[in-house]
Amino acid sequence: QVEVAGDQPYTITIGPGLLAAGHADNARRLGQVLRGRHALVVSDSNVAPLYADGVEALLRAAKPQLALSRWVMPAGEQEKTLARFGECLDALAALGATRDATVVALGGGVVGDLAGFAAACWMRGIDCVQLPTTLLAMVDSAVGGKTAVDLPHGKNLVGAFHPPRAVITDTTVLRTLPDRELRAGLAEVVKYGAIFDAHFLGWLAAHAEALLARDDTALAEAITRCCEFKADVATRDPYEHGHRALLNFGHTFGHAIEAEQGYGAGRDALIHGEAVAVGMVLASRLSTLLGLASASDGDRLQALLQRFGLPTTLPEGLEAGALIARMRLDKKADAHGLRFVLLDGAGAARVVAGVAESSVRAVLEAG
Ligand code: NAD
Ligand code: ZN
Repeated sequence: QVEVAGDQPYTITIGPGLLAAGHADNARRLGQVLRGRHALVVSDSNVAPLYADGVEALLRAAKPQLALSRWVMPAGEQEKTLARFGECLDALAALGATRDATVVALGGGVVGDLAGFAAACWMRGIDCVQLPTTLLAMVDSAVGGKTAVDLPHGKNLVGAFHPPRAVITDTTVLRTLPDRELRAGLAEVVKYGAIFDAHFLGWLAAHAEALLARDDTALAEAITRCCEFKADVATRDPYEHGHRALLNFGHTFGHAIEAEQGYGAGRDALIHGEAVAVGMVLASRLSTLLGLASASDGDRLQALLQRFGLPTTLPEGLEAGALIARMRLDKKADAHGLRFVLLDGAGAARVVAGVAESSVRAVLEAG
């Protein structure tokens, strides 16, 4: 368990089998965080057939009188839209959801972000319980209270800060997660070690095989560590005025890569975690160029990402000038140059503003 402090404290419970139906403990744990008489389970077309029946059985066992319905969106980032958000609100209306209703988000970051935003807006804010089913959602999107949908103009442009009522993370559901999604989540796990904790990087290297084999104990330990890091950052800096920005390590480069590749639209496009893996290596190279971390810190980071089967060099066909132009448009750029999270060494990071484009170009052209 990880406790998240703040104005609205909540608990993250992590372990195997927490969503398995027919266990009184599982029902009780869910029942404890349901306030009212209404619950809407929000999921997507991949996750709902696997897990929604089980979760609904637990909810019914916990609260026999519960008015319960399910809204399932088509899977995929391209569905994280205002139109789908509107449909989710319609489902709350159809349920007759009152102010004490609960949205139960069962899925990856797309479901969690959209359902969380619907909960933030319905009657100016109702409870959202996050049941993350991707590794990325377990270590990142389900924790910290950011919710959003995309606009045609850009990702996550409409949203709200709305901490969940609770997060319940069943590591067993990761067994059905596609391999590529698991590895992409591992990139974000490595990110926490790279910026906060060299010892955790060592632990990850030692447990790489167990993690890739989806060993419950190793996964639960890694997820718990990441949630502790994220909870600590989100508590100290809930609205991302400072410290929380360190979580963007690898993301300035990563987002530029994703944008250039049309956000996964192309056949060979990287998915988010993969782009972040490449971005972290580029950011560590930039750190070395600017006299911060040593080259061997970058080499070790790259080797660890490669063990997790992640890409660590720029995909073919991406051009430095185009990537730099994307970075100039990034929220993190300002009038004085580009802004990056850079490494002082393994496990230590800082935000550096005013990075010269010539340095960025040198790194991009090298790798
Ligand atoms: P996702 O939700 O699209 O899930 C990835 C794929 O895996 C989907 O096809 C999904 O249907 C499938 N899936 C999910 N769980 C599964 C399971 N257990 N078994 C089989 N298939 C499963 O993607 P994601 O990577 O989880 O989340 C990405 C989203 O998260 C982005 O929209 C991003 O903006 C957002 N995000 C938000 C925050 C935040 O702080 N709110 C942080 C990071 C990312
Ligand atoms: Zn990310």
